[in-house]
Formats: sequence, C-alpha cells, structure tokens
Amino acid sequence: MKYVVIDRGDDLSRRLTGRFHTLASAHGFAPDAESPDIVISIGGDGTLLQAFHRYNHLLDRVSFVGVHTGHLGFYADWQAHELDDLVAKMASDKPQYVRYPLVEVVANRPDGSERYLALNEFTLKGVGSTLVASIHINDELFEMFRGDGIVVSTPSGSTAYNKSLGGAVIHPSIESLQIAEIASINNRVYRTLGSSVVLPKHHHCDIIPEKESQRLALVVDHISIERSDIRSLRCTVSDKKICFARYRPFPFWRRVREAFLTES
Ligand code: NAD
Repeated sequence: MKYVVIDRGDDLSRRLTGRFHTLASAHGFAPDAESPDIVISIGGDGTLLQAFHRYNHLLDRVSFVGVHTGHLGFYADWQAHELDDLVAKMASDKPQYVRYPLVEVVANRPDGSERYLALNEFTLKGVGSTLVASIHINDELFEMFRGDGIVVSTPSGSTAYNKSLGGAVIHPSIESLQIAEIASINNRVYRTLGSSVVLPKHHHCDIIPEKESQRLALVVDHISIERSDIRSLRCTVSDKKICFARYRPFPFWRRVREAFLTES
C-alpha cells in the first residue's frame, strides 16, 4: 500500500506522523507523496480539507482516512490513541469505501474559465461592498440577491458553514447541493426566498454578479481567491466524489450527534 500523511503541524500531530511511518514500515507500506493509494490526515477537519485539495487530482483512485488530534473532527474516524489499531486494521482488513458528493463550480471570466471542487462548500462574498447577483436555477431567474454572500454546500459540508446559516443537515447519500444566504437584505424593494434551497444532482445554479467589475471573494472550503472579472458562476453536484476508507463503521448521524449533541 502506498500512502502519504498530511498533518496539522502541531507537536502531537507531528509525533503521530512519525509513529505512523514506523508502524507502516513494519507492515511493508511505502510512503509515496506523488501517487498514494491512501491519504492519512492527522489533525482536524481543516487538515482533511487541505489533504483533499492537495490530492483532488487523484480522486478516481485515492481514498482518505482522518485521525483527529483535537476535539472531534467531522471527517476523522480515529483518535490519537487509536493509531496503532488503525495501522493494524489497514494491514489486515479490507475497508468499506464510502463516497461523498462534491460541489463543482465553474467561474467564467472574459478570457476563460476556472473549475473548482469543494468538499464542504463554495462561498461567494462581495469585497468591500454588498454582493449583488442574480441567482438562476436551471436557466430561469430565481431571485436577485443582495447581501453579504451565498454559500453553496455539499451534504457533508451541510454541518459546517451552512449549518451556522440555518441550513438543513443533509445525509451524504443524497447527491445534492444546498444554497444558503448570508445576511440577505429583505425589505419592500429587495426580496429573496430567505430559506436555503436544496438542488438535486441533475439541476444547476448560476450566480451572475450584477456589476461585471464587482470585487468578489470566491472561497472554496478554506481557500480564498479574489477576482473582479467574474461574469458568472455555475454550481453543480460534481461527477467526482471523495472516497473515505472506513476500517470500522461510523454512521453519519452518529457523527452529527457526537459533534453537536452529546458524546456516546
Ligand atoms: P476553522 O479551523 O475555523 O474551522 C471551522 C470549524 O468548522 C472547525 O471547528 C471544524 O472542525 C469545523 N468543520 C469543518 N468542516 C466541517 C464539517 N464538514 N462539518 C462540521 N464541522 C466542520 O477553518 P478551516 O479549518 O479553515 O475550515 C474551513 C471551514 O470553516 C469552511 O469549509 C467552513 O465550512 C467553515 N466556516 C464556518 C463558518 C461559520 O460556521 N460561521 C464561517 C467560515 C468558515
């Protein structure tokens, strides 16, 4: 098995990375940062997001495992003290592969377009001014948005920024994207739906900034890019998915309960 470890860089995560390499070598696993079969993330959800973005060109063949070194990580199945157990299971067991949907965003500019994949969400915000943009669903005008921003989240990202905005928590087996508003202006002149909407896989949403030169922040998970030449953004559920290697069951609703309600 070829593997790579991405860690958060703090003392505990670094120590665990060292331990992982020792145990992995004893089992005959080979470190390979260029072409791994499995990516081990040691740290928090932010570490797994980084690992995803570093290896999202290999999604067709790579799987991910998360080890958390802080409080419960939403994407991490294993705790620091369980590392030996994890490596033993990796050596002896066939994992269950669980695939979660991703949001794809194509940003169209006058001289070309860029494509981004989000594991949690894509966020669009105005920089230095209110975001004014029309939202189209399946090529029909849905609403004119004025406010701080728009968050388009994946099902697994529905428990992140989306949840803070009052969006629904969506099970990752439902291939969908969810559009939530950040502080929309609603009065007699401006009107948005106000609640988040969930689109199925075969639908698409276009966000068209009213002013062509508006300075915008495009935030893909933790990565922020500023642009002032965006003509439109198309958001869809991607054909690609992230694949997690599960060496023991950790159902989504248990994850939600343990993260937000009570630990078992
Ligand atoms: P960060 O370290 O500030 O992480 C924010 C928190 O979000 C952490 O507690 C993390 O564990 C949690 N988190 C991340 N993904 C999650 C998920 N899928 N479900 C439940 N909780 C999750 O920032 P970061 O590490 O750079 O992470 C970026 C993420 O932060 C973004 O993808 C976004 O979802 C989130 N965020 C949230 C808010 C908010 O809730 N108001 C605002 C901005 C960004």
